[in-house]
Amino acid sequence: MTEAFFGKIALIGIGLIGSSIARDVKARGLAKEVSISTRSTGTLKRAEELGLGTSYTVSAADAVKDADLVIVSVPVGASGAVAEQIAPSLKKGAILTDVGSTKASVIAQMQPHVPEGVHFIPGHPLAGTEKSGPDAGFEGLFAGRWCIFTPVAETDPAALAKLRAFWEALGSKVDEMDPQHHDKVLAIVSHLPHIIAYNIVGTADDLETVTQSEVIKYSASGFRDFTRLAASDPTMWRDVCLHNRDAILEMLARFSEDLAYLQRAIRWGEGDKLFDLFTRTREIRRSIIQAGQDVDAPDFGRHGTSQKS
Ligand code: NAP
Repeated sequence: MTEAFFGKIALIGIGLIGSSIARDVKARGLAKEVSISTRSTGTLKRAEELGLGTSYTVSAADAVKDADLVIVSVPVGASGAVAEQIAPSLKKGAILTDVGSTKASVIAQMQPHVPEGVHFIPGHPLAGTEKSGPDAGFEGLFAGRWCIFTPVAETDPAALAKLRAFWEALGSKVDEMDPQHHDKVLAIVSHLPHIIAYNIVGTADDLETVTQSEVIKYSASGFRDFTRLAASDPTMWRDVCLHNRDAILEMLARFSEDLAYLQRAIRWGEGDKLFDLFTRTREIRRSIIQAGQDVDAPDFGRHGTSQKS
């Protein structure tokens, strides 16, 4: 079995994802040294206070010197600029990976800067929350979650095996996919749900006939579940929309057609059509629970007062 241990890991970006990786690396002893870099002194100071690494710098280029594994965890729109900054300092033989939520765009931005002899393996852990920053991370975020690699044509199998061993040590299940396919899959399972949530919460906010206090007071009727997604980081999600534009637009077109079908069924009182669809979708929820991707607790396992209707 390939060893998951690295002499030096550099973490570029230390928000929710970067700091969760740092916590897991520390807890599992997966590196001798962990250098941390982030662009602002405020975030860097916080990372140091939390003891997330062994060295800290605002210079990404300095952080990656002598690193065997470099993990870029910044908004996808910034990945090209980061790759350009670190490229001259990357060690020959190092593995360079990222965690960005879109893959074709990240590859297009980063790959042109990757020096000869550096193994670039784009990745995406399908794990997260609506929170951001170094305080939002936690140990075990990736346990039982998928991490998808979208290797480029010339990827070295030994480097791939080493990175796979690393994510598996963090508790992830690893899969490989073509980047375009990844972007289509993620458009439907992640990007569209976030866009729908941003939209419904925005609509409720704009309504004149229902007051804002009523929206908040009666939110447990369903609205509340959308607000969690709609509270996600605006910078990250702006970048995801701009960098997975084609796949998102394709899925939105499909979604609008299906919504029109639903609208017609409601207008014409076609109860059978509604019942059939709602029965089919209930099965999807069952399959997700069976696959271990959620728990079967009512109300998503929330405790306390519930006003479901
Ligand atoms: P985050 O908590 O907001 O942290 C972002 C990090 O990137 C911070 O260190 C921040 O630095 C840095 N950063 C922000 N803008 C930058 C720029 N223009 N140039 C260089 N650095 C910049 O974000 P996150 O949730 O960890 O997300 C990081 C990546 O993971 C994104 O690509 C996202 O698509 C992906 N991802 C997120 C989730 C999720 O649920 N959140 C899940 C899977 C993958 P400062 O604080 O110093 O400004």
